[in-house]
Amino acid sequence: MKAGNRLNVLRMLRREGLSRSELAERTGLTRAAMSLIVGELLVDGIVVEAARRKSVSGRRPVPMELDPGYAYSIGLTISRTGSEAGVADMRGRLICRQPIEIAGLTRRESLRRIKTCLRGLMRTYPSPTGRWLGLGISTPGPVDVAAGTILNPPNFDIWHNACLADEMRDLGLGHVFLENNAQALTMAEKTFGAGRQSRSFVLLEVEAGIGSGIVIKDALYSGWRGFGNEIGHTSIDLNGPLCSCGLRGCVEMYASVPRVLAKARKLGRLEKKNARINDWRTFMDRSAAGDSLCRRLLKEQAQALGTAIVNVINVLELDAVVLTGDILYRGEILRAHIERILNQTAINRWLRQVPVLLSPLGERPELMAAAGIPAERFFQGLMEPMKVQLKSKKLGG
Ligand SMILES: [Zn+2]
Repeated sequence: MKAGNRLNVLRMLRREGLSRSELAERTGLTRAAMSLIVGELLVDGIVVEAARRKSVSGRRPVPMELDPGYAYSIGLTISRTGSEAGVADMRGRLICRQPIEIAGLTRRESLRRIKTCLRGLMRTYPSPTGRWLGLGISTPGPVDVAAGTILNPPNFDIWHNACLADEMRDLGLGHVFLENNAQALTMAEKTFGAGRQSRSFVLLEVEAGIGSGIVIKDALYSGWRGFGNEIGHTSIDLNGPLCSCGLRGCVEMYASVPRVLAKARKLGRLEKKNARINDWRTFMDRSAAGDSLCRRLLKEQAQALGTAIVNVINVLELDAVVLTGDILYRGEILRAHIERILNQTAINRWLRQVPVLLSPLGERPELMAAAGIPAERFFQGLMEPMKVQLKSKKLGG
């Protein structure tokens, strides 16, 4: 009970600074009980008193905040296009980010380079208290979260069946967690982004593939072993083209960025238009400028995504849809199309409109999301940070 109240307070403070009386009000505890809890958190050094807020009507209560230096975490993203690592503070803010060049390397060489980078980050940006929440790794799915193993994501062969949790153990960081990148992004949206106001929502990350994550009643829905949440591989056409997953007409075959661009190039050639649309930004710049072909293809993409989203909403009746990935660039046009489709066809449309939101987390939230994986475990009360004794450079290698 007491531990539960303490965690509840910490989770609230993770999102925003709140005074003792605001915390008491939101938790339903008495002010006396809240003063006790906050007193303990202050002694433990996990929260600090922030500067008193300015007010015209006299003194305002002092807001409590998480101490950013209480414990750090390391995030690592390994993707098909590149890898990056960074250190985040207790409030989830990245203190640094460092790309890791591993293109063309073997798994063994990649691992060596990644570990060298992580050791360097731990030395250069040491946690002020020596406490670390751990290492959070995000990669394309499917992954086995329980074992910390990458399973068999397409076009990711050198990492198939790599148990990163074991490989990273000798860094001495304590906890190592692996998560599918779309799931990590979903939790970052829940805590810091477009999912803050929703208890239940679906996130779609539209890029080279379509990743997704679902939050139900404030908790990430993870399925049995990491193969769930594959909205990109739900079919929207029985007679559609055969997908690599074995199903026909998967939404990814119509709405992923490479598919839309390939169609734009093909039709551009047929219609004798300038066919040099090599990237999403060019495509969206032309759509925004009123190019009829690009606009038509964007509508078709929205129709494909919208249909898949309506399927999900009709099954789970979620509160909101969050879009992220490459499609955030000039994303308002696509967002509005999808929202219209959703609110013209979802079964609950007579009762309420479901908002479609663009992620506010900026262009590259993956690293912040990866560093958030261990933090998420801590704020759920599943583990405690570890004091890490850094080896000297000579010994640490
Ligand atoms: Zn498929």
